[in-house]
Amino acid sequence: HHHIDHATPEKVEAAIAAGEIHAHLPPYQGFADYCSTGGYAKLAELREAGDFETVQDTLLASGLRGLGGAGFPSGRKWGFVRAEPGPRYLAVNGDEGEPGTFKDRFHLERYPHVFLEGMLVAAWAVEAERCFIYMRDEYPAVIEILKREIKALEDDSKVAPGYIELRRGAGAYICGEESAMIESIEGKRGLPRHRPPFVAQVGIFNRPTLVNNVETLYWVTRVLREGGEILSGVEKNGRKGLRSYSVSGRVKNPGVHLLPAGSTITDIVAAAGGMLEGHTLKAYQPGGPSSGLLPASMDDMPLDFDTLQPHGTFIGSAAVVVLSDHDSAKQAALNMLRFFEDESCGQCTPCRVGCEKAVKLMQADTWDQPLLQELCTAMADASICGLGQAAPNPIRLTIKHFPDEI
Ligand code: SF4
Repeated sequence: HHHIDHATPEKVEAAIAAGEIHAHLPPYQGFADYCSTGGYAKLAELREAGDFETVQDTLLASGLRGLGGAGFPSGRKWGFVRAEPGPRYLAVNGDEGEPGTFKDRFHLERYPHVFLEGMLVAAWAVEAERCFIYMRDEYPAVIEILKREIKALEDDSKVAPGYIELRRGAGAYICGEESAMIESIEGKRGLPRHRPPFVAQVGIFNRPTLVNNVETLYWVTRVLREGGEILSGVEKNGRKGLRSYSVSGRVKNPGVHLLPAGSTITDIVAAAGGMLEGHTLKAYQPGGPSSGLLPASMDDMPLDFDTLQPHGTFIGSAAVVVLSDHDSAKQAALNMLRFFEDESCGQCTPCRVGCEKAVKLMQADTWDQPLLQELCTAMADASICGLGQAAPNPIRLTIKHFPDEI
């Protein structure tokens, strides 16, 4: 990248157009290639004579759930939005700001049209007037790929010009929270909204809005084209389906590893080539900093939706960070809370003040556990959105599992 002083979107566009800068584009499957392998035939078939209930049943039977972190059954969400009066919108959450998560990027940089077809199927299902793709600006290659491939769709009349609008996020973690993302799409500061009403009823410009994660839509296409058994047919440890684990930390081969949804940390570390030389597994973050840290002793637990709830945490977007005996759980937890302190939108007191107080208390040589526990309760109970509600997880889990360190 050339350095551009005081870069505005216009200046960056002009520089790209002049060939002065360009995002490095990885090799990916383009429009013609995708079509030559039967791509967009399913969409055409559905637009021609598709039956929503049949598609919904296929998705529900496949077991596909929202892969942004919430894990809500995909077909059911479509049904809710479809039942609301039009006009309706579709928003794709491509903010992927959870530290350690890079699975959406992985899929987009390889098969953008698998995602785009899934998005257009979802748009068909809820009869969306328009689609907004909210993509994090830290993924310049993805943005460039999407621009080119959306243009290809328009040139081939698969969509009307302007039907798909690509919106760039500006680096705020909170804009990955769906209602804050909607505020941002509307051109406002990204502050999460109170619920109810839910965005399925009152979303973009107060219209019913379907919000789906990038990877969810990628799997929609694959399920409809290849059959739901590609997910429901995979079984491990009593769990069904596949999970794109983003693996980083002290492993030999960090990256996205597609594994059965019932995989344990042992399976995931093995898939990532094992621990780095001289490192022993000590702890792991199962799903982003909001999920806190679990100890190596919990190595036989399937890391899936629902399985972590009894342990006070969740899989979220499956961002697995592996810590070793070279790492401090206490420092890692502090780092997580510093992140939340930075990224809190500041709208509500339990989170804005709570994160700041927590960081101060966690910097002490010895943690004041009763006070921290009290603070955690206030934050979890009284915060408006998931950021403040989940921020206590790293504190609570570190107190529970790493008492010697604190
Ligand atoms: Fe903002 Fe935090 Fe309140 Fe969420 S919990 S609305 S991020 S201040």
